[in-house]
Amino acid sequence: MRTDRTFTMLKPDSVEKGNIGPILEKISSAGFKIVAMKLTQMTTADAEAFYAIHSERPFFGELVSYMTRGPIVAAVLEKDNAVSDFRTLIGATNPAEAADGTIRKMFADSISENAVHGSDSDQNAEIESQFHFAGREIF
Ligand code: UDP
Ligand code: MG
Repeated sequence: MRTDRTFTMLKPDSVEKGNIGPILEKISSAGFKIVAMKLTQMTTADAEAFYAIHSERPFFGELVSYMTRGPIVAAVLEKDNAVSDFRTLIGATNPAEAADGTIRKMFADSISENAVHGSDSDQNAEIESQFHFAGREIF
């Protein structure tokens, strides 16, 4: 299992607000190299599968509606210690608790509409990358 890659989505709120460029700038400035990227939109079935681990949580329906309401930017990022360093860069799930300078502190509105996704383990980074990209789309 490689440890130098993670998976991210710039969520629909980020795309709606015109924040693709500013967020990618933060990601690049932090030393992450983009090795796969696309603008895409998840179907309800896609979002239910992607977030299956949260299916029993009270916010699941709202999460699926949010994540399918418009396009997202999906990307695979490369950097040493990618998963952990990217979670640090994005900040806490709730932007009100996120550290200054983190992507969620700067660009997120709420714990539900929190601007970006970041994988939580090397194994999930691999699974989530393969969910969104064919092997020939990852460089
Ligand atoms: N979420 C929510 N309400 C909550 C917790 C999470 O709407 O109380 C949403 C939010 O968009 C979050 C996603 O569900 O990013 C996945 O939750 P998780 O706990 O995995 O947070 P993350 O790993 O994204 O920080
Ligand atoms: Mg998570």
